[in-house]
Amino acid sequence: MSNLFYQTKSARPVLDRAEGIYMWDTSGNRYIDGSSGAMVSNIGHSNPAVLAAMRAQMDKSTFGYRLHFQTESSEELARRTAALAPEGLNKVFFVSGGSEAVESTLKMARQYALTQGQAQRYKVISRMPSYHGCTLGALAITGYAPMTAPFDPMMRAMPKVPAPRAYLDGLDPDDPETGRHYADMLEARILEEGPETVLAFIVEPVGGASTGALVPPEGYMRNVRDICTRYGVLLIHDEVMTGGGRTGRFFGAEHWGVTPDLIALSKGFGGGYVPLGAMVARDDIVEAVMQAGGFVHGFTYAGNPLACAAGLAVLDQIEQHDLTGNAARMGAALTDRLRGLMQRYPLIGDVRGKGLLTAFELMADRATRAPLPKELNAHSRLVDIAYDNGLIIYSRRTRGGLSGDHFLVCPPLIVDETQLDEIAGILDRSLA
Ligand code: PMP
Repeated sequence: MSNLFYQTKSARPVLDRAEGIYMWDTSGNRYIDGSSGAMVSNIGHSNPAVLAAMRAQMDKSTFGYRLHFQTESSEELARRTAALAPEGLNKVFFVSGGSEAVESTLKMARQYALTQGQAQRYKVISRMPSYHGCTLGALAITGYAPMTAPFDPMMRAMPKVPAPRAYLDGLDPDDPETGRHYADMLEARILEEGPETVLAFIVEPVGGASTGALVPPEGYMRNVRDICTRYGVLLIHDEVMTGGGRTGRFFGAEHWGVTPDLIALSKGFGGGYVPLGAMVARDDIVEAVMQAGGFVHGFTYAGNPLACAAGLAVLDQIEQHDLTGNAARMGAALTDRLRGLMQRYPLIGDVRGKGLLTAFELMADRATRAPLPKELNAHSRLVDIAYDNGLIIYSRRTRGGLSGDHFLVCPPLIVDETQLDEIAGILDRSLA
């Protein structure tokens, strides 16, 4: 019996090795990593250049505590990250994962408000459904009851507004009125809470695990930005999943030309090679907090030289091979293939996404958008069948009466058309 335990009871095969978009278990079975782990392994597995960069750093030093030493790799990664970030966001704080990155944005927002004499601002509005991490702070802003309910008495659950799921609400996502409609709900909520108490609004530029690659309707992100500015509410973009090129732009928000005040980054940033994340922040926010005495926060492993050396090598791969551009091109090609499957399988009710953050959703009835009965367990059954057929995909059932069984098909950004055919073929057999 194993001494290890995870969240779930189901056992999976034992991983042996991985290369590119493929993974092998110890029995020799090969799998296509059709979800890049959990949308992490963006540049593929065992990239020789990244491994070489890690080895070179390991030969010099693996750990230097950030309060004892500055390191070349963390300085350089911060410089390169700031150069990629929207104008005005040049301050980078490293962490070791997505939850830590999100926590950092919440604590930076709060400490900034204190420097502005706005101690009454503490509410962080988020969306329902949403997922922002598993630490208590990140859970307070997560809209997913199965994960938050046990901890309700231990944290202050924050206000939620509906995610803009136009496809479920029978609204046209291309109509700017739709974007305005959902953004108006945020404004109404800010007014209801009292704007002077609202610290921030946090949003994924393209929905990830919780909404299954939900692309915001036309105008939504811009309206949200305007509303936040109007009420002095900080706008936080959770780019933990969307950042690093996955949506076909380095940051997902670039699709809408919207600049947030704070960004959380992880997953593809370390590319599955090291635990790595970052908060990227508006210069004046950080300067105000630093002037007031410093940022009350910090994780021991933050910005360690090995993680940052790997992060730099991952960034090199993204840039040298135009993986962001490939994500845009292959995302369109994958969407075509999924739409083809949708024509043949009435069970597929929706196909959506941006770049290689791509998903399809199963429904009982495409016309009424009725979800499949919960007892069918479609989300885990299709994943299991695909697994047996050699394809790993990522599923969630977040409806609880609202949303359905959706499946993220998000291979590494190095995927090519032949491999997409292989993925579509396995999905076809699995759906059949
Ligand atoms: N935010 C988003 C949008 C995520 O998808 C995740 C992870 N699924 C997190 C935060 C938390 O990241 P981590 O699991 O690395 O702590």
